[in-house]
Amino acid sequence: DPHGMRDVLRQLGVQSQNAAYSTGRQWGGASNPSRQIVSPADGQPIAAVAQASVADYETVVKAAEAAFPAWRLMPAPQRGDIVRQIGLALRHNKEALGKLVSYEMGKILQEGLGEVQEMIDICDFAVGLSRQLHGFTMHSERPAHRMYEQYHPLGIVGIISAFNFPVAVWSWNAMLAAVCGDVCIWKPSEKTPLAAVAVQNIIEKVLADNDVPEGVFNLVLGHADVGQAMSADERVPLVSATGSTCMGRAVGAAVGQRLGRALLELGGNNAIILTPQADLDMAMRAIVFGAVGTAGQRCTTTRRLIIHESIYEEVSQRLLTAYAKLPVGHPLQNGTLVGPLIDADAVGIFTHALEAVQKEGGTLLTGGQVLSSAELHGGHYVLPALVAAENHYPTVQAETFAPILYLIKYSGGVENAIALQNGVRQGLSSAIFTLNLREAEAFLGHAGSDCGIANVNIGTSGAEIGGAFGGEKETGGGRESGSDAWRVYMRRQTNTINYGTELPLAQGIKFDI
Ligand code: NAD
Repeated sequence: DPHGMRDVLRQLGVQSQNAAYSTGRQWGGASNPSRQIVSPADGQPIAAVAQASVADYETVVKAAEAAFPAWRLMPAPQRGDIVRQIGLALRHNKEALGKLVSYEMGKILQEGLGEVQEMIDICDFAVGLSRQLHGFTMHSERPAHRMYEQYHPLGIVGIISAFNFPVAVWSWNAMLAAVCGDVCIWKPSEKTPLAAVAVQNIIEKVLADNDVPEGVFNLVLGHADVGQAMSADERVPLVSATGSTCMGRAVGAAVGQRLGRALLELGGNNAIILTPQADLDMAMRAIVFGAVGTAGQRCTTTRRLIIHESIYEEVSQRLLTAYAKLPVGHPLQNGTLVGPLIDADAVGIFTHALEAVQKEGGTLLTGGQVLSSAELHGGHYVLPALVAAENHYPTVQAETFAPILYLIKYSGGVENAIALQNGVRQGLSSAIFTLNLREAEAFLGHAGSDCGIANVNIGTSGAEIGGAFGGEKETGGGRESGSDAWRVYMRRQTNTINYGTELPLAQGIKFDI
């Protein structure tokens, strides 16, 4: 146990065999089918978790339904105070939870800690928000009338999360939902349930100390079938789902069928544009962090580099130099920058994409090997790849969730680079490196990037929580986290009050009885 994982699991209470959790309660357990969770870093089993049955899911929904009426009546700032305490508990457990995220998911420790910090940040944001759930007041066209809008709690929020941000995505949704007066049911990725169990344990004490009713924060471990049940369930007015576009299509259709609300955060195919006026020293760090960080398993990972032909040679040479010394290894090892992929399937998808893109005309410049050295103990490690390619290749058009960076040449003005950047079906994150005001503003203007995130002199990944996060087109159109993303977790009501002695009708309609 060289990385002290036994102590981490003990501190976080992760030995449990249960399938479903609610405030102070657990269901399922030993008689359910279980799933053995293995670290992608060294192939070692960490713990087994039971998978929820339909009956377990039903029990949790009942608990959530029962909790909502009391929770929605608690003043929002009081709910905010509970979120404040959750933030403190996360601060207290940051080191251990960051380590578990790193070991279970495979991202390097710095990023595991960063993920927990993001949870802490969203708690702070939500505490402030709990006093800012405001609507507008409008002037009425009728005399002695007042018109305004207000936001009410919505009900049960279903949260389906992906493996690559096993805990932060829950907090973006759950902390906002909590101050908005909603109760939530979390279905984490079946690949990373232990970090979710740890989070439930961390918040448990805060909930008990504050007499939070059973059913406000719920966790159901299971496969896609639990997510499917939630998507089709009329008792769940909002389903917030993060994952692949394929999953989003299924969830969006099921939620749409019953006219519920879906918040979809799906795949990206993010590009950085490098114009002749780019500060290349600055750009290099952004590109390498964006392309190989989290071993290419971020929704905002830099997948395409759109380079002006006049600097293409220099950029590719500098990247080859940087890629030659990338420290690939155990994510908990000091100095590692690239950890493993999540599992053997992911390695297969990486290798397959590299074969396919070469058949389509691409040239593998470096990387692409699957590492199997004894030192890596059966982990799923690959060497990040650089590929010279063209934007229209089918493989370049798809999101491959692995560290492959496509180098794409453009000529002429920045509008040509923007056309390439927009020329994919996804629309999550985008960036330009330039010191030229005209190029930067063209990229940000109405005819510029079509993505939910557009950055200047910053890479595509590593967003702050203060802005709304999400993307257009096949990325699903949802927005979570900062700005006014909270509105989707509430129901809006328009109120008109007549304090006069007449009953004038809108639009001046005459209706005398
Ligand atoms: P995935 O789609 O395989 O699984 C995501 C979650 O959806 C899991 O909990 C899974 O059990 C569940 N699920 C799968 N099929 C379902 C269905 N039909 N109905 C209901 N639930 C279902 O994704 P993954 O491999 O865990 O994560 C990687 C993907 O997530 C990438 O495409 C990445 O870009 C995307 N992602 C997007 C964002 C974002 O904010 N836009 C953030 C993180 C990850």
